[in-house]
Amino acid sequence: MPPGRPKGSINTSKNKYINGVEKHKPKSKINAPPKDINESKIYYCTSCGKDFPKLYGNFRASQSPFFKGWGYIPVCLKCLDYFEEQYTERLGSNDEAIKRLALHFDLYLNDSILNASKKVNVGQSRIAQYISSANCYFSRKMKEEKEENNEKNEYAHKKEENKRQKA
Ligand SMILES: [Zn+2]
Repeated sequence: MPPGRPKGSINTSKNKYINGVEKHKPKSKINAPPKDINESKIYYCTSCGKDFPKLYGNFRASQSPFFKGWGYIPVCLKCLDYFEEQYTERLGSNDEAIKRLALHFDLYLNDSILNASKKVNVGQSRIAQYISSANCYFSRKMKEEKEENNEKNEYAHKKEENKRQKA
């Protein structure tokens, strides 16, 4: 766990107790930990524990099989920005910080995405920009691979047909 990480990770009883006394617990599902994320429709940041009513706008999309359940990185945007700051300070370089976070969150890691993320849109942190760029890169790569496979299949199919016609 990196030092200075915000307290109140996912399984702490942060909201449950006031000065060690259990808080009045309303019967609604809102304060209950999510048993089934699809059912509860409340999304908890796995770092700060804050709850969000929706993923879009609060979390960044992810194509990683590690985060397939949500399709989003389960660390909220504020925490991502916080980690970018922390790692930049600790590693002494913003580039190194982004690379480290890219590894943590299973993002495509290459220099062209890293350089592209230097041009940050207004109101967006570099890590948020990096994730968007990495996602675009990943989608493009997948599309290219699919097209390549289709071409290969088509070629194989034609070859097979020619063989059959000759026989
Ligand atoms: Zn958070």
